[in-house]
Amino acid sequence: MPTLHVLGTCAGWPEPGRACCGYALRTSDSYLAVDLGHGTLGPLLQLLDGNLTRLAGVVVSHAHPDHCADLIGLARALVLGSSVRHVPLVAPPRVARTAAAADPEDGEQVIAEASATPESAASAGPFGVTTSPTPHYVENYACRVQADDRVLVHTGDTGPDERLARFASGADVLLSESTDRAQEQHHSADADTRRYLLTGSQAGELAMSAQVGHLVLTHFWPGNDRDLSRREAQKTYRGPVTVADEGAAIEV
Ligand SMILES: [Zn+2]
Repeated sequence: MPTLHVLGTCAGWPEPGRACCGYALRTSDSYLAVDLGHGTLGPLLQLLDGNLTRLAGVVVSHAHPDHCADLIGLARALVLGSSVRHVPLVAPPRVARTAAAADPEDGEQVIAEASATPESAASAGPFGVTTSPTPHYVENYACRVQADDRVLVHTGDTGPDERLARFASGADVLLSESTDRAQEQHHSADADTRRYLLTGSQAGELAMSAQVGHLVLTHFWPGNDRDLSRREAQKTYRGPVTVADEGAAIEV
């Protein structure tokens, strides 16, 4: 059974002692990285025990740095510290351009070929990956990952979206953003926030509509009350709800 390892959970920038969003799905001895925000590369390398041949691929939802900043460091580790010269990368083209531009000498060697279309299907070692676009400030793809007949869906960043509910249908685990900017004292939820990000309650609605087996909340705005987000999600989704935490390992 695959295991979802949580590398980081913060939206925007890392809270002290935490990292921005990143995860690694493991089956047997292979790992698939899903997003690599600030501070996630160290924990990923620890999981891999420094052996980058165990990394079957990387999926990045979008080009905001809280989801892709450590892709730059990964490229350096691949080029300068391993014999691996290419790792499949499923991501919007802007992700590859951004990372390659930040490190034109080394980055381009291993990540310039990265691309994904709005509805692409790819395989990375034992993982099957399909993507679907979601509403966000920039091009964002949710991913649906299959391994050992189990299914993980990661939303990336998104607003409420009926297409996403269909895309996530029946997943064993839905790893959903729960930015919950509405919790902020000084942030009045404007139209863009409502269109492009979810609250805990809306993450629960998505999980309920998609009839998933387990909802895992992540992508919390720094300073938010994560347990409050969980309680709000439990009002709209009747299945199990887990708050993602750095270092957690969750069975898929
Ligand atoms: Zn984000």
